[in-house]
Amino acid sequence: MDFSEDQIRRYARHILLPEVGGVGQARLLGAKVLAIGAGGLGSPLILYLAAAGVGTIGVVDDDRVDLSNLQRQVLHTTDRVGVDKVASAAETVAAINPEVRIVPHRVRLTADNASDLIGGYDLVADGSDNFPTRFLVNDACRLLNKTLVSAAVLRFDGQLATFRAPGPCYRCLYPTEPPEGETESCAQAGVLGAMAGTMGSLQAVEVLKELLGIGESLSGSLLIVDGLATAFRKVRLPRDPACALCGPNATIHDLAAHRSLDHAGV
Ligand SMILES: [Zn+2]
Repeated sequence: MDFSEDQIRRYARHILLPEVGGVGQARLLGAKVLAIGAGGLGSPLILYLAAAGVGTIGVVDDDRVDLSNLQRQVLHTTDRVGVDKVASAAETVAAINPEVRIVPHRVRLTADNASDLIGGYDLVADGSDNFPTRFLVNDACRLLNKTLVSAAVLRFDGQLATFRAPGPCYRCLYPTEPPEGETESCAQAGVLGAMAGTMGSLQAVEVLKELLGIGESLSGSLLIVDGLATAFRKVRLPRDPACALCGPNATIHDLAAHRSLDHAGV
């Protein structure tokens, strides 16, 4: 691929890296990533992927910008309260890197649209804030053989993992969805905005590594971050032989099980 002079200047610090170089930068420009959620995790993720020149970034979010989002959702601005988050994301990204194509999906991810949406992308980055969506994204990604980089944050704590065959999936970590009422959301428990920024930025690093095929994949590991202690712990995440999705006796072969659920969206 031939770069323009502007592209060489814009991506000079990437091209300098032996692990990226011109070949890697061209690969990023041709890559298609789907971000689930344009919130606390999606904000830094989308900002860094756009700045990095990831050519096509799909954004799934059916929500609008709210004043209470701005403490952590740095994609959005005060004058955009009430605006669709996908539109706000597109506006911010256009200002940072007009080369990047943002594909807004102003929908709730459901069992009926998940395969079509995810099927059009190389890789999925989940920053959703609820378990039904996380399970749906995991199942759809594994069934479609897409790499999933998944981040989560609550209070001062964060988790990050990459799920791709032949490594474990999200159900190897959490076999079944926790019953409603047993989990807390950021809206209930709170979250330090900068922790969402940290986890979304780490998620962007793992997405870029997977796209470039460099470094040590996080597949097979779970990164646990304790922001109050400033402690990073990487634990081995084995595949669960009894996993209903990726185990040898898998019982999940499509997304039908999700159709009975009323998804809370992202
Ligand atoms: Zn599994």
